[in-house]
Amino acid sequence: MDTILNIHQISHSYHTLKGETPALCDISFSVNQGEFLAIVGPSGCGKSTLLSLISGLLKPEQGEILLHEKPVEEQKDKIGYMLQRDELLEWRNIYRNVLIGPEIQRSLTPEVRKRAHELLDAYGLGQFKDSRPSELSGGMRQRAALVRTLILNPEVLLLDEPFSALDYQTRLNVSDDIGQIIRREGKTAILVTHDLSEAISLADRILVLSGRPAHLKKTVYLHFAYPDGTKDTPLLRRNAPEFKTYFNLIWKELNQHEHQIS
Ligand code: ADP
Ligand code: MG
Repeated sequence: MDTILNIHQISHSYHTLKGETPALCDISFSVNQGEFLAIVGPSGCGKSTLLSLISGLLKPEQGEILLHEKPVEEQKDKIGYMLQRDELLEWRNIYRNVLIGPEIQRSLTPEVRKRAHELLDAYGLGQFKDSRPSELSGGMRQRAALVRTLILNPEVLLLDEPFSALDYQTRLNVSDDIGQIIRREGKTAILVTHDLSEAISLADRILVLSGRPAHLKKTVYLHFAYPDGTKDTPLLRRNAPEFKTYFNLIWKELNQHEHQIS
């Protein structure tokens, strides 16, 4: 498999008037083209910091992050970032929310408009193009936020706890739904979450971070054995026997010397 992203010996601290907060300590890993990677770790351990570094918005104190072997800061446009809050603008309808990125980048061509329609139609938002964000359910809003990220055609998608503002039932459906869309679009994705079930149902591989300053505690590759021809879906995974095994394994890892994961 082709490696697309290299995170090489990253350490990062925040410096404020109150002193130094070390957030990440010597983290290295790489991500393959088309891979879905999940990162789990205790609250406050440095997960969002890691994503900000990978997005190129924040520069690491030590180490380097390479996309296609070149510094990521020079290619921020190849990274799409989706946050917990969908940040949809109420004064724009859904279609115009989706076009915000290309507008800012001054790349709003007829092709981009066509693609916006295609994506909205393909992902069940065709009837809501003229609606305001407040007229949509939480799940649909997240979908719209994903379409808004996809329209920029990023090579790597970063997702920072994108489902945690949703209630439990909605979260299950929406995370499964969004996971499938990302797979269908063939995107390389990095999902940060404190929800272990979410990580196991969506990812190819899970990185477990320690408490702050985060270091890489464990890497778990996920394999689910299905009969031939069965399509791997988040819902199937949740009911597969392997699910519980992975859950217990990673849960133990997270709770060694740490008492909670959220
Ligand atoms: P997580 O996403 O895992 O909850 P974060 O990456 O947001 O963790 O934060 C890691 C640590 O860095 C926390 O202790 C947090 O308080 C601190 N931190 C995050 N952002 C800043 C900042 N801009 N300035 C100072 N400290 C920060
Ligand atoms: Mg965070």
